[in-house]
Amino acid sequence: MSEQTESESRKLLGRLRDTLARNVEGQARLDQITQLTARSMGTEVCSIYLFMDDDVLELCATQGLNPAAVHQTRMRLGEGLVGRVASRGRVINTPDAPSEDGFRYMRETGEEIYSSFLGVPIQRLGKNLGVLVVQSKTQREYSADEVYALEVVAMVLAEMTELGAFLGEGAALSAQHQKPVLFRGSSGQEGAAEGHAWLHEPRVVVTNPIADDPHRELERLIAAIEQLQVGVDKLLEATADGDKEQFKILEVYRMFTNSKSWLRRMQEDISRGLSAEAAVEKEQSQARARMGQVQDAYLRERLSDLDDLSNRLLRILTNQGTQQGLELPKDPILIARNIGPAELLEYGRKLKGVVLEHGSVGSHAAIVARALAIPLVVHARRISTEALNGDHIMVDGDQGFVHLRPDDQVVSAFRDKIAMNAKAQVRYASLKDKPAITRCGKEIILNMNAGLMADLPSLKESGAYGVGLFRTELQFLVRNRMPKRMELAEIYSRVLDAAKGKRVAFRTLDIGSDKVLPYMTPNEEPNPALGWRAIRVGLDRPGVMRMQLQALIRAANGRPLTIMFPFIAQLGEYRLARAEMEKAWRREERLGHQLPEKLEVGAMLETPSLAYAPKQFFEEVNFLSVGGNDLKQFFFAADRENERVRRRYDVLEVSFLSFLENIVQRCFKTSTPLSFCGEDAGRPIEALCLAAIGFRTLSMRPASIGPVKALIRRCNVDELSEIIRQERDKGEQSVRPAVIEWLRKQN
Ligand code: PEP
Ligand code: MG
Repeated sequence: MSEQTESESRKLLGRLRDTLARNVEGQARLDQITQLTARSMGTEVCSIYLFMDDDVLELCATQGLNPAAVHQTRMRLGEGLVGRVASRGRVINTPDAPSEDGFRYMRETGEEIYSSFLGVPIQRLGKNLGVLVVQSKTQREYSADEVYALEVVAMVLAEMTELGAFLGEGAALSAQHQKPVLFRGSSGQEGAAEGHAWLHEPRVVVTNPIADDPHRELERLIAAIEQLQVGVDKLLEATADGDKEQFKILEVYRMFTNSKSWLRRMQEDISRGLSAEAAVEKEQSQARARMGQVQDAYLRERLSDLDDLSNRLLRILTNQGTQQGLELPKDPILIARNIGPAELLEYGRKLKGVVLEHGSVGSHAAIVARALAIPLVVHARRISTEALNGDHIMVDGDQGFVHLRPDDQVVSAFRDKIAMNAKAQVRYASLKDKPAITRCGKEIILNMNAGLMADLPSLKESGAYGVGLFRTELQFLVRNRMPKRMELAEIYSRVLDAAKGKRVAFRTLDIGSDKVLPYMTPNEEPNPALGWRAIRVGLDRPGVMRMQLQALIRAANGRPLTIMFPFIAQLGEYRLARAEMEKAWRREERLGHQLPEKLEVGAMLETPSLAYAPKQFFEEVNFLSVGGNDLKQFFFAADRENERVRRRYDVLEVSFLSFLENIVQRCFKTSTPLSFCGEDAGRPIEALCLAAIGFRTLSMRPASIGPVKALIRRCNVDELSEIIRQERDKGEQSVRPAVIEWLRKQN
């Protein structure tokens, strides 16, 4: 970069800052910026296009094009060269615009006389805000320095837009972070909540993108990087003998903090007139833009590391962005790009809801949100850059929608929904101590699923009969190291204390597939759901399972104990697992520990193979529990984690119901106690159909017990069995329409 250009670009930024400092109204500011940029760059035209909505750009200010076209000329994303800059998020630099692919002639602007075109995206943290363009009559390609200068102006524009510097008339100029925004994500946990946004990682706002004194800015940057390095080194030291994965990530961080090219790029930005924080944010913005484009998962991870590192650096430089000392707002709704299960658990039941930009339905955070029974929406793209701490927000966990800064209409409709839910809750509470007996006199036992201590109070609140599934892996997932036997024994013992004699079915560790322990090296497997998971890991590496079984026996300390093994696919696997249990039993006996008064050992039926296991299997297990989530995914060959297919098949399809009915009949013949503990057990219509095909025990989230019980008590499942039989005879694919019609007729 030549001294000449360097000082030119600094001059341009200096003038820009003066313009921005003037107390003028938004439109006048934009006009001045276009004049200034055109003059400084020696071009006839400079124009600013901003997004009106996600799809449409509007010419908001121009120097050189027909002024009458301002706020008139619009284009869609991808349309014309400007639309292409916006859709690709990349620079277009051409000496001969009219012959460029995609050029669109806009008569009203009078632009046909301009030959060369340089357009750069106006982006902030990966979000496209608009396009900045310069054009000239002469056919020339703009130099790298000129491109750079325009990018810097675009960046300053983006920062100033964020700060609301262009407020004024015209929708495109209206304030950021003030309009209502609807985010359509996916449901991670049902329920509705209203509250105020709380950003897990608060945003940092750069208020001084332009600086006078590059030397000082460079010193600030270097001091901040040094501070960052010290911080990373300390973390590295602290994790040296612990969490290997975290150690690896920190090593990558350290590598970045030493990266010469990263520093050089920021140095260049500073020498051209940006402040230290603006230079960091420019790098971060570019990393975010690239993140959305690269396919390679490893590269994306590294870009996300760089993003995280930039955040840390910005916090050091601006002294902003720590939530320390700040109080959670009333009815906090947590917003995060992603969050680990332990961090989420720390917030605990204080939260009214959780919204994540990433995450997945089966992620650990989702498991915890479910355990805490708070509505969760995942895949709410960009919410963490759009929301501000304290914003009014409504989370619709049923549909996966989030209303940020909702307008009055949405607020009143949403409040109606919450009120209706609350009314229903009162009704359910009145049923708490009543049995779930159908109109035809069949009692259905309703258990709850659990996995954390935090779940146990629900046992009383929901009126559940017992815990039909205790997912022990959650205790492993929320830690950053393997728990010790005594720790586990203590937790299990507290669970049994809290259950006050009600039966708790502890499922041994179900890891692998979507549940990866943070402190175990993940195995790259082509199909993790069909891979080395659950009992397969337990039998191949029995150390952890043995420790767990011993902990369970000790926790029972003379009380009855119920254990089930996950993901059993054959009689042989069950026998091996049971033999481990017996070995643990004998060991504990030898060591003189008090043994459980009674022991029940069962299996989860989650693979179709087990439905056809020999009769001996059904005779040997003390009970069976259908893990409907996994069983359904294998039955239909549809990944439960894959948004594209996970709702494609219905549990109420005749094929699946017939398959389940066969399991019920086999258990009936051998008098094997049977329950169903997948998510479908907690959906009233599905639960009713399961009862109609013969299930007498269901296990579900505590919040589902009320609605399921209410429906069961109102229906005659003998009649429903008949409907299901008729639909099957008719050759229908699903019984759902007939069941809904039957329910409708009964009001
Ligand atoms: C299931 O598969 O239905 C089940 C209950 O287990 P998880 O959801 O923990 O895999
Ligand atoms: Mg399962």
